Amino acid sequence: MKALLLREYGKLEMTEMPEPQIGPDDLLVQVKACGICGSDIHGFDGSTGRRIPPLIMGHEASGVVCKTGAEVREFRVGDRITFDSTIYCGKCYFCRRGEVNLCDHRQVLGVSPGEYRRHGAFADYVAVPQHITYPIPDALSFEHAAMIEAVSVAVHAVGLTPVKLGDTAVVVGSGMIGLLVIQALRLAGCSRVIAIDLEEKRLRLAGELGAEVCLGASKPDVPSIVRDYTSGRGADVAMEVVGNTPALQTALASLRKGGILTLVGNLSPKVELPLQSVVTRQIRIQGSCASSGEYPACIDLLARKAIRVDPLISAVAPLAEGAAWIQRLHRGEPNLMKVILVP
Ligand SMILES: [Zn+2]
Ligand SMILES: [Zn+2]
Repeated sequence: MKALLLREYGKLEMTEMPEPQIGPDDLLVQVKACGICGSDIHGFDGSTGRRIPPLIMGHEASGVVCKTGAEVREFRVGDRITFDSTIYCGKCYFCRRGEVNLCDHRQVLGVSPGEYRRHGAFADYVAVPQHITYPIPDALSFEHAAMIEAVSVAVHAVGLTPVKLGDTAVVVGSGMIGLLVIQALRLAGCSRVIAIDLEEKRLRLAGELGAEVCLGASKPDVPSIVRDYTSGRGADVAMEVVGNTPALQTALASLRKGGILTLVGNLSPKVELPLQSVVTRQIRIQGSCASSGEYPACIDLLARKAIRVDPLISAVAPLAEGAAWIQRLHRGEPNLMKVILVP
């Protein structure tokens, strides 16, 4: 089969690879679409150490089942499917509590951090276990289905946030996940979402996708503008979708007393927390990692267009052009959001 192989850090090439072997519980999937994730970009240059070459990256994918293992009953050859990027064991303490994203034996497709190597979906074929696979309806295109992993991250984060009907939410960061979080907050009952970002173009998209107020992060006192919109109190909930000190502090300062902050972004390993403000204003802080069990709901939300992903897709390109696209994303070319590769 043809695959886009990370031969060494910074060097991707289209090459011939053996078709993946499948075990009794696995499916062989003919890949129809696979998104380039931010983590693939940071894996490509070796900065995270989680994509040790040689490796086929890619974990945001959809396709068609073309072979099934001996123990597979729920899927047939020809089924249109997507799959979770996390391969969980189903047996550990956390899996048995339903927190599969926290699995002790978690592996990620298209990742090789040293302890394991799991080839991903930047290839004609990928092998995936049946327990992380979900059927998709005909109404959902393969390109949109490749966005489900990102959608599930947003839906999981909003699901962990106790939103009440009529709440006002602040979302700091209007990148791809932020734009999905805005849509999920509206569905969860927030009557008003205030989007904050540095980039004008992203804020325009935030407005199109449901944010009522869009604020440039460089404005002198963003939290006081938020208070102006909320009878002087501040927002009920805030979502931090960047992951650095200024974004965290903006999110915290925009909250009312007793407000709730959910942390999704994790760009910096450490941030400075205004401890006294958190304690004396009784702020609740919640971290959110990947997703656990939200896939069926997200497939439904996308198929019914309750969450829109079209405006987030910058390009759909042949897999053979993948190396060039990953380099463009790596250079930080402006106005690029999700790029989807088609083998
Ligand atoms: Zn991803
Ligand atoms: Zn587990």
